[in-house]
Amino acid sequence: MPDLAFFNKQFVPLSEAKVGIMTHALNYGTACFEGIRGNWNSEQGQMYLFRLRDHYQRIHKSCHILKINLSYSIDKLCELTVELVERNGYREDIYVRPMAYKSSQTVGVRLHNLEDDFFVFVTPFGPYLDPEKGARCCISSWRRIDDNMIPPRAKVTGLYVNSALAKTEAWENGYDEAILLTQDGHVSEGSGENIFIISDGKLVTPSSSDNILKGITRDTIIKMAKSEFGIDTIERPIDRSELYIADECFMTGTAANVTPVTEIDHRNIGHGKVGTITKKIQQLYYDIIRGKNPKYLDWCTPTYRSKLVS
Ligand code: PMP
Repeated sequence: MPDLAFFNKQFVPLSEAKVGIMTHALNYGTACFEGIRGNWNSEQGQMYLFRLRDHYQRIHKSCHILKINLSYSIDKLCELTVELVERNGYREDIYVRPMAYKSSQTVGVRLHNLEDDFFVFVTPFGPYLDPEKGARCCISSWRRIDDNMIPPRAKVTGLYVNSALAKTEAWENGYDEAILLTQDGHVSEGSGENIFIISDGKLVTPSSSDNILKGITRDTIIKMAKSEFGIDTIERPIDRSELYIADECFMTGTAANVTPVTEIDHRNIGHGKVGTITKKIQQLYYDIIRGKNPKYLDWCTPTYRSKLVS
């Protein structure tokens, strides 16, 4: 069975889901997207999509900012995604990529008087950063783009040039990930992750006014840390040097899950190893996303009507 995508309002083989070279979104970065993880639970023979509705709520907000008319309701988007994942039948972790985009085949920079369309594809997807060893990070020489340039709270494809510049600079300099600062020099986020520090037993993370994408993983951690460990999260501006002296640090994201940060700018964070609170949060998070924690099953959408056994 070929891989399937949802494209042009129907399910088609992935190899046939193609856009023309004049597509507006390809020329000008005028598209909004999401990244959703499907987490394979081998004991249950089930694939769980994590916080599916929340991702589709966010894409609707992104589309509102970018004046993209996403004609499907959140319910419909969830429904067609579940069908797509079920029909693809993967038995491993996957990444689901929905995208709403300016589909007109026309030249001219603008948002108005253009057609919009939507697609979703699915691809196998393992760990993004090393969750065991943790990440070695640097402060990027690139600054995080400001809300008055391209709003980072909207997950816009064109915005990701900023992340790509930072990620490749970090990688070329021998680091795993970049941490970007805002225009006024406060910590914003990683190239594709939110960032948390732990200081004096409290979680601290930049607030949405520091030009972050308000991560769904970030929200999960804030809620879980409070309800499971009684740890409060403070959302406030963080100085660069606060990172260096934090007790622990980690990054969160759909791709990165919970990735410990062990080093920043050649300074160990804490003991330079995965922190103890980080480890506890990480373990709980991995159970939750795989549908192994009954308390959080509302966040997990099962996709296979009958269990898949290998
Ligand atoms: N910031 C950026 C720039 C991202 O691309 C992502 C990944 N979507 C995140 C933060 C984390 O967001 P989420 O937890 O919703 O995946």
